[in-house]
Amino acid sequence: MRNITIICVLIALVLYSAYVTGQHRCLSQKELYERAKRYTPDLDRKIALQKAREREAELDGQSQRTTTTKKVNVVVHVIYKTAAENISLAQIESQITALNKDFSATNADISNVPSAFSGLIGNPNFVFELKGVTRKSTTKSSFTISDDDEKALKLSMFGGTDAWPPDRYLNIWVCNISGPTLGYAYGSAAAGEWYDGVVISYKAFGTMGTVTSPNHLGRTATHEIGHYFDLNHIWGDDEDETNKCSRSDGISDTPNQSVATYGCPSFPLYDACTPSGNGVMFMNYMDYVDDNCMHMFTAGQVTVMRNTYNNHRPNLGANVTSLVSSTSQDHLFVYPNPFNEQIIIEGNWTTVEPYTFKLVNQLGVVVYSSTENMSEYLNKTINLSHLQSGIYYLIIENSIETYTKKLVKK
Ligand SMILES: [Zn+2]
Repeated sequence: MRNITIICVLIALVLYSAYVTGQHRCLSQKELYERAKRYTPDLDRKIALQKAREREAELDGQSQRTTTTKKVNVVVHVIYKTAAENISLAQIESQITALNKDFSATNADISNVPSAFSGLIGNPNFVFELKGVTRKSTTKSSFTISDDDEKALKLSMFGGTDAWPPDRYLNIWVCNISGPTLGYAYGSAAAGEWYDGVVISYKAFGTMGTVTSPNHLGRTATHEIGHYFDLNHIWGDDEDETNKCSRSDGISDTPNQSVATYGCPSFPLYDACTPSGNGVMFMNYMDYVDDNCMHMFTAGQVTVMRNTYNNHRPNLGANVTSLVSSTSQDHLFVYPNPFNEQIIIEGNWTTVEPYTFKLVNQLGVVVYSSTENMSEYLNKTINLSHLQSGIYYLIIENSIETYTKKLVKK
């Protein structure tokens, strides 16, 4: 009961601070840690093992100072009720483009970093590749930040879309988040768990379509993916403590800062923790300023992110087939094509409705039909050895989704 009370107070505090300060970019890492512990009771043991692995890597001299490019496979799960919430592929791709600029320090506005801080700019050298898009209609008008609503987003048994294997994909769920929250993300303590990944409002995802100013440049995802790679808020999440300078973000090259910065202040900005000199680094992606006001990660932050990639998320760049085509929203993969004896259909079955599989020839005659319930990652093999050579159309549909593929029988 005591725990529940504390959590409620925490959530109330988070909500209160959000409402009094306007748009709230995400949740405190404290709150997310508590939540992850509810989902994963032995979380502390997992974190201890991760820390041991980090120390071992350090002792082995596998320092992460290399500048090689790190690839990140991305799957975006669109959970929508209204047509607007079902954002376009172009909007999703605009977010990937923005991430690739921000995570290679090639964003055009990096020149706005004051010269006092420009020497601290770091380049993560991450490349994001969109490998899948899933779409699922929901009966929920919006999602709160409660445990139940997170399950309704991320678990198919509660109406959401299950993560693609979280060791090989950065899973991003895009939905209508209620209240002022723009998104939230778990650090590597959640690596591999069903809830691992990032949640972002459809109003703050990408740089076109449904995004609204001042969250229109894709920086919510930049910020949340910073958390996903274990960055803290630049002020250290100590805003609830008496001494707001007591905790730092654990990064040596970011100035100590008391609370989040909102809007778009001008440089220099002083606060109780850094009252002189260059002031606080409000233009950092891990602060809360407007999208057009944040421009950089530091070298220290880059070291943390690349360490996390190497030690805790090393398979994010695994070779996986892209299930995204520029003309459709498919997330199913059919092979071989052309085929001889049989075809195999694999991918992510995003709804619990039964699927009907139909193969139609060029005359429109149905030559194969079956209806089945598909569970996650289940492959379906169809034997078509009896068919004549020629062109066929595979139609996979249920009450929610329809897919069509052109196939050639040898
Ligand atoms: Zn945050």
